[in-house]
Amino acid sequence: MKLTANQRTKLIVDKYKFRFSKSLGQNFLINDDILEQIVEGARITDEDYVIEVGPGIGTLTHAMASEAKKVVAVEIDKNLIPILEETLTDLDNLEVVNEDILKADIHKIVQEKLDGGPVKLVANLPYYITTPIVMKFLEEHVPVTDIVVMVQKEVADRMNAVPSTKEYGALSVAVQYYCDTDIVAKVPRHMFIPQPNVDSIVIGLRVRPERKYKVDDEEIFFKTVKASFAQRRKTILNSLGTLGAFDKEKLKEILAEAGIDERRRGETFSLEEFASLSNVIAREWKAEK
Ligand code: SAM
Repeated sequence: MKLTANQRTKLIVDKYKFRFSKSLGQNFLINDDILEQIVEGARITDEDYVIEVGPGIGTLTHAMASEAKKVVAVEIDKNLIPILEETLTDLDNLEVVNEDILKADIHKIVQEKLDGGPVKLVANLPYYITTPIVMKFLEEHVPVTDIVVMVQKEVADRMNAVPSTKEYGALSVAVQYYCDTDIVAKVPRHMFIPQPNVDSIVIGLRVRPERKYKVDDEEIFFKTVKASFAQRRKTILNSLGTLGAFDKEKLKEILAEAGIDERRRGETFSLEEFASLSNVIAREWKAEK
């Protein structure tokens, strides 16, 4: 009889006397339906290369490797490595890398272990570093087509947010600059051990082959976005002062040229407005140097 994810997890945890680390965000998924929905939401076929961050005891890893061409799973916790050797022993199209994903050279992993990609990032992410992981893949231009990740509901809401809402911020703009988003599954907290304090969402970020709006300098685009949200109650004229690049008169000229009312707040700007504002800023910034 095939064991459920719940039964398997409990057996393994008992056998190895595994102690969950809260600081590493270890909440293991124990629901088979959600596992299936993640694999389906990532549309994994036998041509796909997959990177997983944080395989835990390998539940999702196993489900994905059964469908994919190859899976590389990056796990920071060395106590999980012998466990993964046991739980993944029947599959040979996967590799476990014992590293901190934030320090890992993902381009090198893709080149050396995944035939140069393209890859899909599929993971039940450790909550304490969800945003840095997703941004690392996007900003470092890893050749990734789909990012299908379990995140706290509140983080998914921020990724999906529209202008003039309290959830809308730098993360919303960054994610939507690169990706279309969809909700793959809603996951209540009781589907994990240990049970976290919040519900989760599996969100699909589908990286567009081309950016929707032309941005001349991505670094300045992100600096502009961050400055615009740094103090949400300020007008854009005051917020942009924190860039430290222009005096107020010059900023007024820049805003006028971008067609933006200087009394507005950054949190009301669409992606397109951020793109055109940052293009004017980039041009003027370079002219001043
Ligand atoms: N994939 C498993 C599952 O769905 O049951 C476990 C998910 S658990 C939420 C997060 C996993 O990420 C844990 O295995 C944890 O040890 C690992 N992890 C935490 N920080 C990490 C990091 N910086 N780099 C790689 N893995 C990390």
